[in-house]
Amino acid sequence: ANQVQRKPDWLRVKLPVGKEYAHVRSLVDTHKLHTICESGNCPNMGECWGAGTATFMILGNICTRSCSFCAVATGRPLAVDMDEPNRVATSVKLMQVKHCVITSVDRDDLKDGGSIIWAETINAIRRESPETTLETLLPDFKGNWENLARVIAVRPEVVSHNLETVRRLTREVRIQAKYDRSLECLRQISAAGLRTKSGIMLGLGEREEDVLEAMQDLYDAGVHILTLGQYLQPTRNHHPVIDWVTPEQFNYYKEVGLKMGFKYVESGPLVRSSYHAEKHLFDL
Ligand code: SF4
Ligand code: SF4
Repeated sequence: ANQVQRKPDWLRVKLPVGKEYAHVRSLVDTHKLHTICESGNCPNMGECWGAGTATFMILGNICTRSCSFCAVATGRPLAVDMDEPNRVATSVKLMQVKHCVITSVDRDDLKDGGSIIWAETINAIRRESPETTLETLLPDFKGNWENLARVIAVRPEVVSHNLETVRRLTREVRIQAKYDRSLECLRQISAAGLRTKSGIMLGLGEREEDVLEAMQDLYDAGVHILTLGQYLQPTRNHHPVIDWVTPEQFNYYKEVGLKMGFKYVESGPLVRSSYHAEKHLFDL
């Protein structure tokens, strides 16, 4: 009803350009590689691929959850593909990815929550491309912290779990998730001594005070890197865009976040969870 339709000018997609981008593009086309950057039609491809960063999704493309903002299909996932870790590792090597971001669908159907494939994928990439740094965008493993520990044990350089939205909207936006469980997930990652990252989408109907509360909760959970970006509706059946957050408001959140004590805050209309990811490898 109160959905806004027209995208403001500041969300106009940047055209991918540059020599590095063209090189990666040709490798992807030649070898029919699969990235989230491309399947999600991400506006930052030129920038990220040019900087050697790319995002891969593992554990299939059917999710057991049905978050109202997400374009991934919901359903009964296919059987786990034991060869997936090697295939991803081969892609990372061919694309000469310097900083590799991995994400997955949620596999609430599996006893291990997918954590074994997660760990094997990281190990396979390490074997093939020892110089590549790794960032894992993890599910909450339904609060099974033993499964989370299996991924923590292989010590990716950055570990993220997205809070996605503020407390007040969590039920509406990600029905199978819990705000406090996500915070606990982040607390465990941070307590293990790993660079810890989380993100929130804006424009889903949150108020400024909701955002500030979520930022403080993330900081208190031990999060070092925070990303804030504009939510875009993937199809008409998804959660509507309630408002377009202005670049000025994003800058304001960035300033507040840095004052709060976050090491990095990426905040802007086009920011995605993996945007500028290669810059977040600070010393702990
Ligand atoms: Fe890929 Fe993430 Fe960069 Fe988009 S922001 S191009 S998905 S690495
Ligand atoms: Fe999408 Fe992740 Fe939610 Fe699954 S759990 S629907 S992949 S956001």
